[in-house]
Amino acid sequence: MSAPTPVSSLDPAVAALLKRDSSGLVAAVVQQHDTGEVLMLGWMDDEALARTLTTGRVTFWSRSRQEYWRKGDTSGHVQHVRAVALDCDGDALLVQVDQVGAACHTGDRTCFQARPLAVTGMPRQPGSAQPSSAQPGSTQPGSVEHREEAIR
Ligand SMILES: [Zn+2]
Repeated sequence: MSAPTPVSSLDPAVAALLKRDSSGLVAAVVQQHDTGEVLMLGWMDDEALARTLTTGRVTFWSRSRQEYWRKGDTSGHVQHVRAVALDCDGDALLVQVDQVGAACHTGDRTCFQARPLAVTGMPRQPGSAQPSSAQPGSTQPGSVEHREEAIR
């Protein structure tokens, strides 16, 4: 159950920088280039990255289907490549794209909007460190208190 051995057209200089997982894959975070939206996460082996870098279309390795998968071929929701960067330790890619339509197969714009989780351990805003001095009933979060702090 692993990606094919890297017989790929990927530039060897780039291939040498990749720190692949045990299946030969690196994570690819896909982001809308102009809005900064984080659209989805996919997986790439060397050949998928090579195709992404050279064809203008984002190509993934499907771990469930064990095959290459070019985003938009069946859905029409094409991802046009604008930029690709490797992260500091080589195990993740940032692929900046122009996303046509929905990035998620569910029809959502991004894969992350449908399942927000409750965050209960939210740290205090830097400017609100004195809870005893807060006005009773004044529960304005973040921005107002932060602005008050800034002009103090
Ligand atoms: Zn999705």
